[in-house]
Amino acid sequence: MLALKAVSPPPKPPVILSVIVPMYNEQAVLPQLQRRLTAVLDALPERCEIVLVDDGSSDNTLALAQAFDAGSSDLLVLGLSRNFGKEAATSAGLKHANGAAVVLLDADLQDPPELIPSMLAQWRQGYDVVNMRRRQRHGESWLKRQSAAAFYRVLNWLSDQPIPENVGDFRLLSRQVVDHINELPERNRYMKGLFNWPGFNTITLDFDRDPRLAGETKWNYFKLFGLAIDGITAFSIKPLRLATLVGSLCAAWAFSYGLWVMLKTAVWGEVLQGYPTMMVVMLGLGGMQLLAIGILGEYLGRVFIEVKGRPSYLVQQVNHIPASLAARERALR
Ligand code: UDP
Ligand code: MG
Repeated sequence: MLALKAVSPPPKPPVILSVIVPMYNEQAVLPQLQRRLTAVLDALPERCEIVLVDDGSSDNTLALAQAFDAGSSDLLVLGLSRNFGKEAATSAGLKHANGAAVVLLDADLQDPPELIPSMLAQWRQGYDVVNMRRRQRHGESWLKRQSAAAFYRVLNWLSDQPIPENVGDFRLLSRQVVDHINELPERNRYMKGLFNWPGFNTITLDFDRDPRLAGETKWNYFKLFGLAIDGITAFSIKPLRLATLVGSLCAAWAFSYGLWVMLKTAVWGEVLQGYPTMMVVMLGLGGMQLLAIGILGEYLGRVFIEVKGRPSYLVQQVNHIPASLAARERALR
């Protein structure tokens, strides 16, 4: 009798590196990204994976991503059901990435993929988080540089957990850190803060940030203001404490002034007077009250969003295209 032995294909090595690229209307940069990213990854001996997350683009980005030639790397394309924002797109990528190390990369090539091998080298040395700090901001206006610097100053003053200045989303995270971040249940995913929150062995490398290759930035000042408020409220309740402090000072002053007015009226009587004082006090206190209610509202709104528990993104489609054996062999030759 002939014993048939099943010949199983040799087991694939595990994915070592995943590169996550969130994309929103990035069709103009995709060909360049493909060329530069695959050149870097093909030169690595480890098995890599490219995770392209289409954040509900209205242009051809999703179709181009699905046709992406990942070289010797596996390709994972996630299509979100609409535009959920970069933070959500990055979260989706982190949830689906399989690598033992994960690198986050902007599609516009402002973060040079050529630095990935040195980030990976740090990870092999035992670091869990490799932050990339911009040395210069090429191609960004004076106003943007100044507002970014002011943002970090205010944020770090208000926040209980400092966020390193000039460190964007370009970084490497180990599987352990990614798993911890994936487990965080919060909807307000202010990534810059979340990435620093777990701690672990962290190292920061400096690099020169290039100008955007093509297309245009998706951020305007209104969105950046929203991001700043998200960043502050996600990591600190100091604004509430400030409101309490200012409120207490105002109340103390109002009581003393009230006492003085009563005393004055009792001793010297009161001829109707003091209209300017009244207006100033009324407007000043009114403004302060509205501000405090606004701050309260920002937090209450966030509680409302968290309580509803809606997912922060919806994945409409997932395409997993493992690198063909032939392509891998070609790369390893
Ligand atoms: N992005 C995204 N969803 C958005 C906005 C941006 O996925 O709603 C992606 C974008 O495609 C890019 C990255 O986030 O890969 C950074 O965006 P951008 O270059 O516009 O930001 P900047 O570099 O100006 O801060
Ligand atoms: Mg950019």
